[in-house]
Amino acid sequence: MDNGNNNLYWHHPSVTVDDRRKSYDYKSCVMWFTGLSAAGKSTLANALCFQLHNMGIRSYVLDGDNIRHGLNSNLGFSPENRKENIRRIGEVAKLFVDAGMIVISAFISPYREDRNSSRNLLKEDEFIEVYVKCSITECEKRDPKGIYKKAKCGEIKEFTGISAPYEEPHNPEVILETDKIDVEACINKLLNYLHQNNYIKISSEYLTSFPEK
Ligand code: ADP
Repeated sequence: MDNGNNNLYWHHPSVTVDDRRKSYDYKSCVMWFTGLSAAGKSTLANALCFQLHNMGIRSYVLDGDNIRHGLNSNLGFSPENRKENIRRIGEVAKLFVDAGMIVISAFISPYREDRNSSRNLLKEDEFIEVYVKCSITECEKRDPKGIYKKAKCGEIKEFTGISAPYEEPHNPEVILETDKIDVEACINKLLNYLHQNNYIKISSEYLTSFPEK
């Protein structure tokens, strides 16, 4: 049966991502944060977005809970649904990169295969995997939303790190050990990475105020 998909054609855009990049002095990309709940993904994604915004760089945070309220409100936490969650986010991130923005995605994204599928949607230098690394003991201690407590007593099923797996990245571009360095030091590390790899240009004056710790 023809569901209509056979009649779809790819329309080539009249303004390409390269055209857009020529108008800006930074390069669009996805900073894909991954890590346990409470590791610090949302905190760092928003702090980074704030800094980039202050530098005049167009950036946008795709946040786990927010996306599950809207675009992905029909998905749960089974492995299949988590896969579909990440697939949709990968596609959305790709559109934002095409639109010329630095996308910061903050999702647990526990499966290596799913993260790699998102990486494969983009060009090699458009995907920066950021492992927001924090021990489960520290995450449980922080527990800003009280969800580890609920997961431990079985109120929440399939909870990453407790009753569902988290697969650590093998070769992330950046590792932020949030149980060892504070938010400011993490942001410094990210800005330095973006500067050193020619995604953004930070003036020497600005770099001095963000020394790598
Ligand atoms: P996630 O988005 O990974 O679930 P959140 O950002 O919501 O995590 O929560 C992380 C908590 O840890 C926040 O309360 C934050 O203030 C705290 N925190 C302590 N140190 C750090 C750090 N170095 N980086 C990020 N968050 C930190």
